[in-house]
Amino acid sequence: MNLDFVLTTCPFCGCGCQFYLEVLDGEISGVTPCKTDEISEGKLCIKGRNAQKFVQHKDRLKRPLIKEDGRLRETSWKEAFGIIGKRLNEIQQDFGPDAIGFLSSAKCTNEENFLLMKFARAVIGTNNVDHCARLCHASTVVGLTSAFGSGAMTNSIPEVESADCIFVIGSNTIEQHPMIGSRIVTAKDKGAKLIVADPRRIPLANFADIYLPMKPGTDVCLLNGLMNIILKEGLEDKRFIRERTEGFEAFKKKIKLYPPEKVKEICGVDIEGLQKAARMYGESRRAMILYSMGITQHTTGTDNVKSIANLALLTGNVGREFTGVNPLRGQNNVQGACDMGALPNVYSGYQTIKDKMSKEKFEQAWGTPLPKQPGLTVVEMIDAACQGSLKAMYIMGENPMVSDPDINHVREGLEALDFLVVQEIFYSETATFADVVLPAASFAEKEGTFTATDRRVLRVRKAINPPGESQPDWVIISQIAQKMGSSKFDYSSPKEIMEEIVRLTPIYGGISYDRLDKGEILAWPCHNQDHPGTKFLHKGTFTRGKGRFTPIDYKDPAELPDKEFPFILTTGRVMFQYHTGTMTRKISSLEREAPTGFIELNPRDAQRLKLGQGDKVMAKSRRGEIVINAFITDRIAPGVVFIPFHFAECAANQLTNSRLDPEAKIPEFKVCAVDVSKIEVR
Ligand code: SF4
Repeated sequence: MNLDFVLTTCPFCGCGCQFYLEVLDGEISGVTPCKTDEISEGKLCIKGRNAQKFVQHKDRLKRPLIKEDGRLRETSWKEAFGIIGKRLNEIQQDFGPDAIGFLSSAKCTNEENFLLMKFARAVIGTNNVDHCARLCHASTVVGLTSAFGSGAMTNSIPEVESADCIFVIGSNTIEQHPMIGSRIVTAKDKGAKLIVADPRRIPLANFADIYLPMKPGTDVCLLNGLMNIILKEGLEDKRFIRERTEGFEAFKKKIKLYPPEKVKEICGVDIEGLQKAARMYGESRRAMILYSMGITQHTTGTDNVKSIANLALLTGNVGREFTGVNPLRGQNNVQGACDMGALPNVYSGYQTIKDKMSKEKFEQAWGTPLPKQPGLTVVEMIDAACQGSLKAMYIMGENPMVSDPDINHVREGLEALDFLVVQEIFYSETATFADVVLPAASFAEKEGTFTATDRRVLRVRKAINPPGESQPDWVIISQIAQKMGSSKFDYSSPKEIMEEIVRLTPIYGGISYDRLDKGEILAWPCHNQDHPGTKFLHKGTFTRGKGRFTPIDYKDPAELPDKEFPFILTTGRVMFQYHTGTMTRKISSLEREAPTGFIELNPRDAQRLKLGQGDKVMAKSRRGEIVINAFITDRIAPGVVFIPFHFAECAANQLTNSRLDPEAKIPEFKVCAVDVSKIEVR
């Protein structure tokens, strides 16, 4: 009997907990928490505790599949690679490189994301590479880069518990980032004040000193209202504003237009609560803002993020330990996939493709000219497929048939493609449309790194061999690139890929497997081998120099309720499932807790619609309809309904609106208009 314990990183949320996979005679027998891990401290949430269970599931893809006469059949890697190389070459020659689009993956390692973006740019010659960060925090990258010069969490996770005021807006932290949620509760126990603003009475609201139950999509107004009170009561940090910021006067003028009475009318929050919250945040020296997709997934997502940055700048609550602005990234490696340049306008480390020196650096390293124009984003690729200008897609580890807005439109786009490759660990809803399906390795079957939400780079280690003929994504991409004639994909290991990342990416300049394997905690920026990494950002100066105030006006969401569609639908997640459920829905203990979707309705609405608990309802929007079970609860306000997005059989994204934020191109998942009616069972 051979028992081994392999230290690795959780494949679910962005907290980046480390744990041991127990390996008994070549099979994973369990998960053991790691007491020395500074995030989990020997505790794991229910997803982490069950993380091994999908790995050895019988439904794992084990051989490549190709479509013939409308049906998928098993094939060899040789034949699959032959078809992919031939079809991508043909489409590239007939329609140009921009007729091909790539979706990279926030679930794959940094090394794999780097390779897919390199493949898109250096082998195919297109900047059409994006991933589902577009759908969660694209507005964070744009908004915080504009305000501070860097679009990431300003602080480390452990700092949360030493803040003296925590303002959580648009983040269901206890359910979605359990280890950060528990730090907030610890901070409360140590005497911190807690403000929660959210349209739903989320679990964290029960711990809050002030809960602001705002209307969905009114974040800019609420934040402007808080800043109006802070300015009126002289709680701004005058010295910080003078020495470290720019644009204050124009911003101040705008804020005067948002007195509490107006904010009450638009946001639906009471004036007393608003005033108390403004004083609580404004009077604290170590105030920290935590936010997530309740802020970002709007047509005004970038405005929302800039407003949050305004609030921190106004009170000088950024650039010091225990205080700052912290966007909580959802998926395990969504931070890393962005860092690696799996985005249509930047190379790794956010080096823009428009910068001549950056472009030349990558061209020299990869020995080929690179495309100049920014590529298409996730939703734009689907639009282009529908319009016929995008002919092929290569999708690695993403499932747009559940994750993307307006699924009927996504289906139309995927069906219109001439050629689709899906690289996955399970046969997903998206794989149904593929011409070639490639079986990939899971996190437990490969080496690499993930980057957690607080910029810490973490090792992923191989515990067992991949099932059947499946292979790590980095091996698959390297082999296709080599078969298509590139000599720059001859890697022997992910370590070698990381060495290339380090050479080309200044913020990762001091990261190495050797340092990580010695147990060093390295958060970027980490410029060289002697650099200790950066726990909190913007000390003394912002990445962009001065912090920038932006005057922002409130704008309504793109679609508001009306007579035909009288409810506001807002979407989100549950604790027991992860993203589109490709992994967690294979874990019986998680499925038992959250087996399918539901629609939350307020008891007043339920009474009016003559609905009982668990009744089947039809939810309809201008884009689609679903049948779903009613969950009647007063944690949601009258006139608003909530649906978690994980469940393909009652997919919230059949209903959502694909209208985009004009800057970040993130869709408005958090607000659209729907109708709800009871289905009579005969
Ligand atoms: Fe995994 Fe997140 Fe749970 Fe930690 S908190 S065990 S990273 S899902």
